[in-house]
Amino acid sequence: MADKVLALAGGVGGAKLALGLARILEPDELIIAVNTGDDDCFHGLNVSPDLDTVMYTLAGLANPETGWGLAGDTFQALEMLRRYGANTWFNLGDRDLATHIRRTQLLREGANLSQATAQLCRSLGVRHQVVPMSDDPVSTVLTTSLGELPMQQYFVQHKSEPKVTAVHYRGAEQALPAPALAQALSDADVVVLCPSNPILSLGPMLAIPGIRQGLLNAAGHTVVVSPLVGGAALRGPAAKLMGELGHQISSLGVARMYLGLCDIFVIDHQDAALAAEIDALGMRAVAESIIMNTEDDKIALARRVLDLGGW
Ligand code: GDP
Ligand code: CA
Repeated sequence: MADKVLALAGGVGGAKLALGLARILEPDELIIAVNTGDDDCFHGLNVSPDLDTVMYTLAGLANPETGWGLAGDTFQALEMLRRYGANTWFNLGDRDLATHIRRTQLLREGANLSQATAQLCRSLGVRHQVVPMSDDPVSTVLTTSLGELPMQQYFVQHKSEPKVTAVHYRGAEQALPAPALAQALSDADVVVLCPSNPILSLGPMLAIPGIRQGLLNAAGHTVVVSPLVGGAALRGPAAKLMGELGHQISSLGVARMYLGLCDIFVIDHQDAALAAEIDALGMRAVAESIIMNTEDDKIALARRVLDLGGW
């Protein structure tokens, strides 16, 4: 069996580094396990936003402007649903809808989410293995000033505005890692935690006991890339949520969330002054350029991460 790299990813930040890794590694050398705590049901369809972001990115179909959905998609079906009085705050493009229709159909026919994802990926020409964190349902629910909100309601409908006092990962305690992820956790030579939202993307994964335990036991090096640069998120509510939940809003605060799980913590050059405090947590801090705008940036960071992991 080939040596393996296991990457854990959420949506946009995760997909950027996953793409870099996929440009370097052969399909049998990389497995990408993706957060499903954001999954929800819209218009009777099973939607897995982070899996789709990773799948569309690797397929070269992602919309670079939004970070979600398909490039060049149109929204006529959604407009028609709106005329019918349906709730249409969650954007679903016409071609994107086909993904959710097909996924829902496969699940109804008895496939699990790992199998449905593999089929969708194969059809889109994605050659690297993409798996959900679990085939069991887990949903991220935020306790907010507007009450309990599932992740997509908080993030999309309410634009991450309500103040958050707690986050729960419903179902995580009972969920098992997807079989391919469980295997990779025991086999991987390098584990990469992509620069995803620590609370909304990697949080649900680490709340699954089999994943946390697998990372604690991982034989290979675990390399984490910070999603924060200069005390701010590059996009999304990571910094806001960290502050509201009592974490220090910096790469040091992120590093503390991966205590015991991380060997090498990659921060931006801008944050080099935090390195000594991160080292003191029992990890090795390494300063790099971690802002990935171009494909070359993604490949360069992925190459550095693999070097650091001893690949
Ligand atoms: P989501 O599910 O779409 O929110 O995606 P993720 O959780 O995977 O990624 C969101 C995180 O990615 C945010 O906290 C961003 O700060 C981070 N991010 C986005 N682009 C970059 C980048 O180029 N470099 C790094 N280091 N982090 C990034
Ligand atoms: Ca997400």
